[in-house]
Amino acid sequence: MAKTRTFQDKLKKDKDARLCPVCGTAMTAVRAVRPEVHPTKGSWRFRDQIVIVCKCNHKEIYG
Ligand SMILES: [Zn+2]
Repeated sequence: MAKTRTFQDKLKKDKDARLCPVCGTAMTAVRAVRPEVHPTKGSWRFRDQIVIVCKCNHKEIYG
């Protein structure tokens, strides 16, 4: 929680209130952890990545 807030604060500092050119809503950076199969080992692992969320992909990210 704290980490996410820190990241968003940093992002806000860099680019204040970026709006999506498609839907016009504010784009938010969220940290998403996705399960992923290792290409050679075939085992599952979790990949941590930052995704930008707006109305366009909100459904995809949050289900
Ligand atoms: Zn959008």
